[in-house]
Amino acid sequence: MPTYEYHCEACEYTFEELQPITAEPLRDCPKCHQPRLRRLFGTGAGLIFKGSGFYITDYRSESYKAAAKKELEQAGCGSDNCKCKNESD
Ligand SMILES: [Zn+2]
Repeated sequence: MPTYEYHCEACEYTFEELQPITAEPLRDCPKCHQPRLRRLFGTGAGLIFKGSGFYITDYRSESYKAAAKKELEQAGCGSDNCKCKNESD
């Protein structure tokens, strides 16, 4: 049974919870009781947190690609205003 690390976006509370892999991710913070928990998977596990309680856990899915594409468009990547390009250059 894996241990999941959770982080509360509301009060910055971070804790670990032992859960079956089939369990639903926790949402309500045990400290401030806001539904703002974010489950951490460690590095590079393909979790994207969109800032509004919207999670994508399957990084190969079509919905991820669509969301990522949309995100890029919103960020202006590829345009003259692209911060990504400016930073990498
Ligand atoms: Zn909290």
